[in-house]
Amino acid sequence: MSDNDDIRSRIRTIPDFPKPGIMFRDITTLLLDPEGLRLTIDRMAEKVAGDIDLVAGIDARGFLFAAPLAIKLGTGVLLVRKDGKLPGATIAEEYALEYGTDRIAIHADACAPGAHVLLVDDLIATGGTARAAVRLLRKAGATVTQAGFVVDLPELGGADALRGDGVDAFALTAFE
Ligand code: IMP
Repeated sequence: MSDNDDIRSRIRTIPDFPKPGIMFRDITTLLLDPEGLRLTIDRMAEKVAGDIDLVAGIDARGFLFAAPLAIKLGTGVLLVRKDGKLPGATIAEEYALEYGTDRIAIHADACAPGAHVLLVDDLIATGGTARAAVRLLRKAGATVTQAGFVVDLPELGGADALRGDGVDAFALTAFE
């Protein structure tokens, strides 16, 4: 990951957020930096293989990377939102949290069957969120074989789990 030290060094770590013992990787400092933001989008675009029809961003920080990446790739953006936020007819998928469950949703008509969709989020940890998004997009008929993240927390196994689901997961940097 040393080639992305310029991106990694712009990500701040906040200890004990949102609760004691968690080291929160804060990408707001990367977003504030024009060069950091540009490099992030350029390097993510370089990692995308083949033709993509849509970039799907995960609520909410994923949106910030999905939109500029879509512009660069010449595609539109599909919003994967927390359930209850989208105005039209939706399909939803549930996933486990440490305590309880959460639900994400997309508009039922958001993508054409067979569309090649690239999934994007700021960070992958356990992979619970991204894997639910993949299930949801596939339910809608999308072909999902790639997912891009700014940060991977490899000890939590999310990127490996995504690969097990047939999704080639890439990240620009990793924190142990
Ligand atoms: P996962 O579902 O366990 O992979 O968690 C990933 C989701 O939680 C993503 O949508 C992230 O935005 C968020 N998340 C978890 N940990 C962090 C962190 O340290 N920094 C920023 N976002 C995080």
